[in-house]
Amino acid sequence: MATTLDRALSLITDVPDYPKPGILFKDITPLLADGEGFGVVIDEFVKAIKKLNRGVDAIVGIESRGFILGGALAKALEIGFVTVRKPGKLPRDVHRKEYALEYGFDALELHKDLLKPFDNVVIVDDVLATGGTALACHELVEITQANVVAHLFLLEITFLNGRSVIAQSHPDVSVISLLQT
Ligand code: AMP
Repeated sequence: MATTLDRALSLITDVPDYPKPGILFKDITPLLADGEGFGVVIDEFVKAIKKLNRGVDAIVGIESRGFILGGALAKALEIGFVTVRKPGKLPRDVHRKEYALEYGFDALELHKDLLKPFDNVVIVDDVLATGGTALACHELVEITQANVVAHLFLLEITFLNGRSVIAQSHPDVSVISLLQT
């Protein structure tokens, strides 16, 4: 019998050829719109973090769907939430990390004063694909000398090998996803 977690994850909807031909977009909005489903995945994230058996000082969410999941998770854990945003969105002094895309470059930014050395941090996003975004976020957090304990995703697209991309640079970090496709 399907568990409530299975039912929740089954609400993630495949959208072929979005935002461009050949991409199978994983749309999590039907899951977020389902009160029980949203609650169950956040409960599962909480369990995964407790299993790590490490003190966690802050959740870092990657713009933009990482904000929704990470914000709810931080509230459940009663710890702070830190936003990592696309360039030009944060109003004060930032650290910046550029990373390669298929064509060209993008960057992520983090307010300089929100994390401190030795803070234990968990990074949250909705989908792990090639791993480039998660790796850039990891390295951005490390500029502050905070320590990344784990990466947490709803869904991992396994054939894109994001997990090994993260592991190659950071073999000791936990990479957790609730669903592998
Ligand atoms: P990547 O850097 O390739 O691991 O891509 C991860 C980022 O892009 C995450 O912030 C995801 O939200 C988004 N993303 C990448 N591929 C997909 C996909 N197939 N469906 C939904 N979001 C995706």
